[in-house]
Parts: sequence; C-alpha cells; structure tokens
Amino acid sequence: MSEDITEKKIIPRVPLKKNEKILLSFVDKNEQKITDLLQKLVQIESLNFSEFQYHNIDKIFEFTKDLMEKEGFKTELFKVPFLGKKKNESYYNLISSFEGGKKGKTLQFNGHLDIVPFNPDNWDEETPPLGGVIKENKLYGRGSIDMKAGIACQMIAMKILKESGLKFKGKLKLWLTPDEETHGAYGSAYMTKNNFEVINADATIVGEPSIRKPMSSPSIGLGEKGPNWVKFTFHGVAGHGSWPKPKSNAINKATRFIYEAERKLKIPKRKPPITKIQQLKYMLKRVNYSDLKKIRAYTGEKNPLDKDKRDSSILYRTTFSFTEINAGIKTNVIPDTCELSADFRAMPGLTTQELFDAIVKFCSKLKYRIELPEGYNNLQHENPKFKDEPTDVTLSIITVGEGSATDPNTEFGKIIQNSYEAVYATSPLFHFNTGFSDGGNMREAGMKDIFVFGPGGRNAHNANEYADLSTLKDVTKLYLLIAYRYLNS
Ligand SMILES: [Zn+2]
Repeated sequence: MSEDITEKKIIPRVPLKKNEKILLSFVDKNEQKITDLLQKLVQIESLNFSEFQYHNIDKIFEFTKDLMEKEGFKTELFKVPFLGKKKNESYYNLISSFEGGKKGKTLQFNGHLDIVPFNPDNWDEETPPLGGVIKENKLYGRGSIDMKAGIACQMIAMKILKESGLKFKGKLKLWLTPDEETHGAYGSAYMTKNNFEVINADATIVGEPSIRKPMSSPSIGLGEKGPNWVKFTFHGVAGHGSWPKPKSNAINKATRFIYEAERKLKIPKRKPPITKIQQLKYMLKRVNYSDLKKIRAYTGEKNPLDKDKRDSSILYRTTFSFTEINAGIKTNVIPDTCELSADFRAMPGLTTQELFDAIVKFCSKLKYRIELPEGYNNLQHENPKFKDEPTDVTLSIITVGEGSATDPNTEFGKIIQNSYEAVYATSPLFHFNTGFSDGGNMREAGMKDIFVFGPGGRNAHNANEYADLSTLKDVTKLYLLIAYRYLNS
C-alpha cells in the first residue's frame, strides 16, 4: 500500500484551551514513560489458552496493582474463581481509581491484559514474543498491540491527569480484565453479571488497537457483532463402507447442511449501526475520493489459494463460518455422528432466539429434525410433520452473545468527537466491528457509552506482532483530553 494517503485537515470545533494545552504538553514530556511501561508489560507473560485451561497470570496483575498504588491510586484486585476442578485457582480483575474534588460522572478506561498463544519458531529471532524489543520505532511482542499498548496509554493518561493537579469532577477509573481473548468468563462477562456496581461507569473507553494503515489516527469502534458459537451434531447410521448410505451417513448430512446453508439459510436482516452511506460519508470527510479508491482497492498480500474477494458487506449483515468438523473412525466404516462447529456473528438487534429460529427453518427445508438447547423455543415442535421423526441434528451452544452498538451523538460521543478534532485536526471516523471486545459484554449488561479505540500496530494474533510507537503519544493525549473534558462537563 502506498503511504501517500493524506488525511484532510480541519479546524477543530472546540480548540484547545490554555489548561488543556498545558495538560497535553505533559504527554510530550512523558512519551518515553509510555514506551517503557509497554515494554515491561510485554515482558510479563500473560497467556490465555482457553476458558477451561487455567494459566496463572497473577504476576501482571500484581505488577499493575503495585504501579497504580505507587502512583497514589486507590487500587483493588477482584478474585474470580476458576471454573475447573482445583479450588484455589482464580483470575484477577484490577480496578484502580481516583476522584476529583466534586461529585460528578465516572469515566472508565478498560483493557485486557491477557495475550493469545504464540509459536516462537515463527517469530524473527531478534524480536522474540516476550522480548519487548524495539526496532525502527516498533515495539515487538505478543500482546504489544493487542492490547498492552492501549493499556500503557491509559495508565500514563491517568498518571498525568493526577499529577497535573488540574481540577475535575467525578471519578476516573481503570478496569483491567484477564480473559478478553476467550470472551470474558472471568473478566467482562463475569464482572458485569456479579460485580456490576464495581465496573459500571457513565462512559467507558476500551483501548483496543484501531489505527489502521494508511491512516495515522484511530478509528472509533462504536459497536460490534454478537458471537454465537455453536456445535451441530449430526446423527446418522453406521455401516460398512462397501454399502453406501448417502442419506444417513452423518458426514453426508453435515456436508449437505454446509452446502445448502450458503443459499438457503435466511437470517433476518437488521439495520446496521453505521449504514453504507454513513460509512462513506465518514471516509470522505477524512480522505479524498481518489485516496478512498486506493484504500478500497488495497487487498494486501494475497494467498493464491484465497478465492474470496474482500467483502465489505459483512459489516452490514449477520454472517457465519463453519470452523471445525469431526467425524469417522475408520476408512471402511460409515460414521453415525459428525460434529460441526459454526461461528455466527449477529448484527445488533438480532436475538439468539431469532438466529435459532432461522436455523430451525433452514433445517425444516432440508427435512432435518433439529433439537435446540433447553430454554429456547423450537419452531419444529409446533410442526406435526416432525413430531415422530428421529433427531437428525442437535445444536449445542459454545458461547452466545448479542451484537451491540453505542450512539456516537450522545454527550460523551460528542466529547470524543471534539477532543479527537483537537488532537488530530482531522474528522473522527467511526466504525463497526465484526469481532468482539470486552465492550460487547458491557453493552449487553446495559452499560452506556462504550467506545473502543486505541493505538496502531500490526500482526495482532500473528507472528512478529508489534505496536507502532509513533502512535502512542497522540492516543494518550486523546484519552487524557476526553477524560478532562468529560469530567468537567
Ligand atoms: Zn484485544
């Protein structure tokens, strides 16, 4: 991609006041501290393998707790018991805060300290996954951009606001979670269900990375799809491989399901939080039409096996991918079961029940009797045709969550917009995410004003992940200015 995309400059609607200029100048002075902190965070291993496999990451929570305490923040670690067999295993959530002089609103910074696993063999020798090595103004390491960089910016922003001595109302808070990468069973999902008062806030900024080259300023995530991960178990009849059973071989049932789903599985549409037209308007406020075409035409390095075109329509509809399949014991034995996992990503406004209704209707077209998990209504149960039929497929839930979105024009949304203009002198760009963040669990629990944005980098979840150090200073300024403006509004 050519690097010559120029973002249109604008004059901020709310320019920086004297106080604010002084406040932001502290970030310039502390730039090195952001990098140093990020490096330390990357060097402390905080792997998250699975919701069901305990891995001790207390060290990184103790490190951040000590640091915040030393800076004078009121800090607490909340213990969440691990669901496995051993009784003493647990995960932490960190809550750290300080209050302004007067009563007011609460603004929360949020981030996840866990990192996804890595294979060190795939990384360049000089930039190992836990090294935190800096090369050409990039800090390498697993979790560097996803998302210890955002956390470092948030922590330094808090420190600066505190040290500045500038007055504000209400409370500024930091909430760090242990397992965003596995959907938050011990972090955002747990805390929103069991400790809602502790983690609730009037507004929350989740510091996930969101600067995407060739842009040099963050795009602001206002919503995300709901992950609905399910497993289909197809039931067939076993037999000798020399006597085919095309209709009752469990693999055949599953593959017919896969093949027909592309055309016949009709999932109800929902209005996207950002429509195509709105997205185009946001983009054109930001870049010229010719640059927009360049961004659109960009496909990156493409694997020759990849036959799929880049498809922006996935931002506006519910999607599904079949992701795991498992069947068979021997080449000459017809299998009686076949397990198939699917990853549905639902638009906001589509409930899990509505999604399941669509799956049930699709199964009816295939003449498959389907059973749903307890607690869900099954449309086939009202259909006499399926009354005496044996079950062809059972659906079980791996995880379900609904899509969610925040209105960008709330009071807080407007403060984000005007702070953004003041820091970057360009028009803010909003986006809707296909993947989830802890923000999804927060919105689902009824928390208001959740936005997701942070620094830039590359290769999240991949080898040679890095944080682009040139993006950290301005992101810290943005967090700080938003906090200052919001807590004085
Ligand atoms: Zn992340």
